[in-house]
Amino acid sequence: MSGMSRRDFLKLAGLASGGMAAAPMLRMISPRVPASGNVRNILFVLFDAFSANHLSTYGYPRETTPNISRLAERAIVYHNHHAGGNFTTPGTASLLTGVLPWTHRAFEIHRYTAQEFAEKNIFSAFSDYHRIAYSHNPLVNTLFDQFQASLDEYIPVDRLLLTSDGPISSLFHHDEDVSSLSWARTAKRDEEAGYSYSLFFSLLYQKLQADRIKSLGQAYPLGLPYIRVDNYFVLEEAINYLAAQVDGLPQPFLGYFHFIPPHSPYHPHKDFYGRFKDDGYRPIQKPEHLFTAEKTPAYLSKLRAQYDEYVLNLDHEFNRFFQNMEKASILENTWVILTSDHGELFERGILGHTTNVLYEPVIRVPLMIFEPGRTGRLDIHTPTSAVDLLPTLLHLADKPSAPWTEGQILPPFVDPNPERAVYTLESRHTAKDGPITEGTLSMVKGRYKLMYFFGYPELKGSERVELYDLETDREELTDLSASQPDLTHGLLTELKAKLDEVNQPYR
Ligand SMILES: [Zn+2]
Repeated sequence: MSGMSRRDFLKLAGLASGGMAAAPMLRMISPRVPASGNVRNILFVLFDAFSANHLSTYGYPRETTPNISRLAERAIVYHNHHAGGNFTTPGTASLLTGVLPWTHRAFEIHRYTAQEFAEKNIFSAFSDYHRIAYSHNPLVNTLFDQFQASLDEYIPVDRLLLTSDGPISSLFHHDEDVSSLSWARTAKRDEEAGYSYSLFFSLLYQKLQADRIKSLGQAYPLGLPYIRVDNYFVLEEAINYLAAQVDGLPQPFLGYFHFIPPHSPYHPHKDFYGRFKDDGYRPIQKPEHLFTAEKTPAYLSKLRAQYDEYVLNLDHEFNRFFQNMEKASILENTWVILTSDHGELFERGILGHTTNVLYEPVIRVPLMIFEPGRTGRLDIHTPTSAVDLLPTLLHLADKPSAPWTEGQILPPFVDPNPERAVYTLESRHTAKDGPITEGTLSMVKGRYKLMYFFGYPELKGSERVELYDLETDREELTDLSASQPDLTHGLLTELKAKLDEVNQPYR
């Protein structure tokens, strides 16, 4: 069965002509010529909800990232890197467009960005590169849908899922033309249209897959990881597939691979499950916040340990991916960027990232840049933002700058700017064409972080401000807003002026 070509299958299923009519999703693959000189490949490896506060590389007491720590010895390591938003849609959109949510306007899940960003994004900016993207997370696929005119290869989410239509695609592993296959998949489900052959295959595959899921599931004590309720996946398989893709790509390429772990549900492989369960680590207890979700400390500790084990799992898989690329000599001419779209929180009665609070575990994300030829580690402590990646990569590729971006070229490629304010915004109830009147805005400037809450019904007409010194109080335990009124006033004035400025076009 695995030797059957797509065309044979479609002929058999009577679908070939319909398949050919579908718009091509993948362009023809051109021959491989290694990138050279200043032209280097760019490869994003993004893990979803990957909080910088939970990496031992950044000082977390549990040793969650031993492999990443070792690999970081030849990377540029950013210690104060912040997402543009606190969940997938605004966070990823900021990374891909180089602007913050108040400009790209993808405030809520499954939203597109403002129309203009269909042609102002990282893929369109690298139009002469072979651009390939995959995401486990359907919210990111919504953004890819919007940007697909700038994608040469857009790997469908199902390709790396075990359920849904994953089994069909795995039969045609070597087939590049996914368009007709996608059409066949759609038709296959259309029982009213009477595709008896495909219905037969569908049932056969269902049985095969049920058996496969059952056997794979034995390696996951908490159950197979999944997205969207019952779309199971195995990170190891996703890594294998994408590592194989990268090896054969036309160069130069721009790859963006967005893996869902360690996003919930936290289901580590049995090799990592239970590692931190009774290790004696006691997270610092923090008071409940106004926006508490009333999760108990015991529950948060249990979930934190599972999340940390899942991080340990992805650390292992990232290492495998990295080794694969190294073996294929891809690292010699490729910038590899390891980062996330937002973090995750296990404190103050709050679990996850869909929250109104913007404490560091939610918004501080890893950023490591593996530069071709680098042999030593370089640590950058200046506050930086997800919106900085687009201008930085354009700079590194000797390309014209993107005039629309709100980011700055990252150090060490330019000198750090000490006056720079790095913003993260939560404002999911904002209308696409309206001003931001309810939300939380975080501003990190130098060693200080100001968090400003406004417009929420819980505030009963008032506003709330918190100020932390991140240099001496990384855990954000001591709110300085009352004891340092002048400093707070100065930072708040700057923050409000910024908010007013970005709201002007929508008033
Ligand atoms: Zn996310």
